[in-house]
Amino acid sequence: MELLAAHFEIAFHPQDSPMPPEQLAEACSDVEGLLVVGSRITAEVVAHAARLQAVSTASVGYDNIDIAACTLRHIPVTNTVGVLEETTADLAFALLLSVARRVVEGDRFIREGHWREWQYGLLHAADIHHKTLGLYGFGRIGQAVARRGRGFSMPILYYTRHRVAESVEREFEARYVDRETLLAESDFLSLHVPKTPETQHAIGARELAEMKPSAFLINTARGSVVDEEALVQALQAKKIAGAGLDVFEQEPKVHPGLVTLPNVVLMPHVGSATSETRLAMAMRAAENLIALLGGRRPRDVVNPEVYSP
Ligand code: NAP
Repeated sequence: MELLAAHFEIAFHPQDSPMPPEQLAEACSDVEGLLVVGSRITAEVVAHAARLQAVSTASVGYDNIDIAACTLRHIPVTNTVGVLEETTADLAFALLLSVARRVVEGDRFIREGHWREWQYGLLHAADIHHKTLGLYGFGRIGQAVARRGRGFSMPILYYTRHRVAESVEREFEARYVDRETLLAESDFLSLHVPKTPETQHAIGARELAEMKPSAFLINTARGSVVDEEALVQALQAKKIAGAGLDVFEQEPKVHPGLVTLPNVVLMPHVGSATSETRLAMAMRAAENLIALLGGRRPRDVVNPEVYSP
């Protein structure tokens, strides 16, 4: 806010929650730049903002913004690539460790006063080391998760539409596989694809049925990538062993079936929420907006075609 105030006259939404599109449309009729976190910038919002010249989001995902509507008006949109990937990968791994080693269940067991004596058979969990880590999406976050997996001696499999450079595969000793192999061979399947029409329900009943009954699903990507109803059914039928989820189809609503299952660890979409990273994201988003409105081109532009003649 201090950085922005040194450059601009600011109007801001005082609540720590996204602004509904109708309200945002109303509020930005006279603004030249918008810095958002989570608020939806629909075509209507863009149409209302007649003077809008730049949009900066303090996130790496930009599925909340109608990019086509911005591009049509030659409005550049920036995100915050490069500041939150390691932090999000930390949470993906935290979910993986927690659900496999039953950390939340153990914590609850003690707090609820059930621990009476040491027992050989207490809370048997699943090993993580040397198990196969499958990455659905192998971009910045997928690779950061792979780096953590290597630290746990995990063989790495990945699936994307385009194979990554050989040097990257070598760095992670990662094997490029098709979707079927990824589903069938992963002990931990971690999702790192963006939300697009193509990734909608990429993991549904059919895919869950192809996974090992001992496998765990980790989702820090977007809720829509997983068919939540199918996931609940697969977990209830023990088609997979458990799930660690940071994102949901209807946030902040969570499927009631998930809440009752002990082999699921839930987090309220906080993948990048550390003090250090949230500050870095805010600073990058502010710097991007300052550059854009100052007529400079920052490196984070997600619709570079706005600069084509
Ligand atoms: P990225 O570097 O752009 O990587 C995306 C990966 O997904 C690429 O490997 C891409 O490869 C692959 N991909 C895209 N569409 C695909 C498809 N239809 N099928 C298979 N693979 C596909 O993105 P990132 O920085 O790693 O971030 C990934 C996502 O994480 C973001 O889009 C965001 O939604 C989410 N995220 C969540 C949080 C959180 O708080 N939980 C925080 C940050 C980011 P190809 O193009 O070759 O297919």
